[in-house]
Amino acid sequence: MSGKKNVFDVPTINEQCLICLSPNRAAIRSMSELGATLEEIAVACQLNATDIQKHLDECVGVDDIAGLAGSDDRLLRLLNDATELFHASTLAGNLTAASSALGVRVRALSEAFRRSESRAKHKSFIENADPRDPNTWSEPLRKFLQGYIDQVLENCAAIDDKKKAIQ
Ligand SMILES: [Zn+2]
Repeated sequence: MSGKKNVFDVPTINEQCLICLSPNRAAIRSMSELGATLEEIAVACQLNATDIQKHLDECVGVDDIAGLAGSDDRLLRLLNDATELFHASTLAGNLTAASSALGVRVRALSEAFRRSESRAKHKSFIENADPRDPNTWSEPLRKFLQGYIDQVLENCAAIDDKKKAIQ
């Protein structure tokens, strides 16, 4: 496995990789996305840090991680994964792993809180705005939409040019 992976690629399983074959594969990935250290992941999942690093470099791809970190679905999954790991480690009597999983969970919760706060701050941005009536748009919203529409028109023009070129 080599080269940059697209964010939308379906993750493949490398059968030579211990982490790919681990049932905690998804948890490892989401932990890493939220910035858990290799050591934390290794302790929480009881796997080797070097194997995890190799997996993240070769199977997942660093670009992939950076590109998906912002998604709310992933954050929610990380929360669930960390909770599950916490319970599993507690049941297994592994308190080090449990506290590591708890640490990741706290971080995921604080990230979720940060996001909801920042969303509340930006709520006025679209509040009372009617998409069919530009007079109701706030100045930042107007700028945002203008930039977005310009971008769409540019892409359309580029597609038209390509069409003409192959005709
Ligand atoms: Zn792997």
